[in-house]
Amino acid sequence: MEIVRIDLLGTNAYVADGETLVDAGWTWSASSVREAVEDAGYALGDIDRVLVTHYDLDHVGGLASLEKAGLDAPVYAAEPDASFLAGEAKPPLRNAKGAFQRAVGVGIPTPETQVERVEEGDEVAGFEVYETPGHTPGHVSYLSDEAAFVGDAFRESGGTVGTMPSYMCYDTTEERRTAEQLGEVLNDRTAYVGHGEPVENAGEKVRAAFQG
Ligand SMILES: [Zn+2]
Repeated sequence: MEIVRIDLLGTNAYVADGETLVDAGWTWSASSVREAVEDAGYALGDIDRVLVTHYDLDHVGGLASLEKAGLDAPVYAAEPDASFLAGEAKPPLRNAKGAFQRAVGVGIPTPETQVERVEEGDEVAGFEVYETPGHTPGHVSYLSDEAAFVGDAFRESGGTVGTMPSYMCYDTTEERRTAEQLGEVLNDRTAYVGHGEPVENAGEKVRAAFQG
């Protein structure tokens, strides 16, 4: 699988085999995404689907602008993040991160396309959906035979993996449980994280970081 990493001032989006976009960057980064897709030899119109790991400004903010720039593809996300993205529900005020998301939510334009709901065990174009809640309640990862797009389930920094800052997290206990479970299922896949460098042999590294 050919994977192109698009680093958007610290937040990654990815293009897999020129046809699958994983996450979509910030509201303002659509032109950078388009350039990266074109530099890799493709066009936004070649993208057949967008796999969204979770509803956060730096991962879904760019969707609507990308559509204006030529993206015409279904968007996949899991509940409740999918409904937040579709503008059909609002993040919960009782949760500090949810309240923050509500505040910035006005800055996330709703994409035109239908948001397709996925859940654990679904397969989308060769990627298995694996639920990884904690950072957000509807956070999912997408696993192929050799790659795992894990969004913000964990991050990489300076060669080690760890959790995202707790103030950016819905539920730190659940986030930790998710990371421990990922340690058991990632095996020798390379993990493509939302923040940081790709993590090779991710199962072993995640287990070392979060277990024991
Ligand atoms: Zn996030």
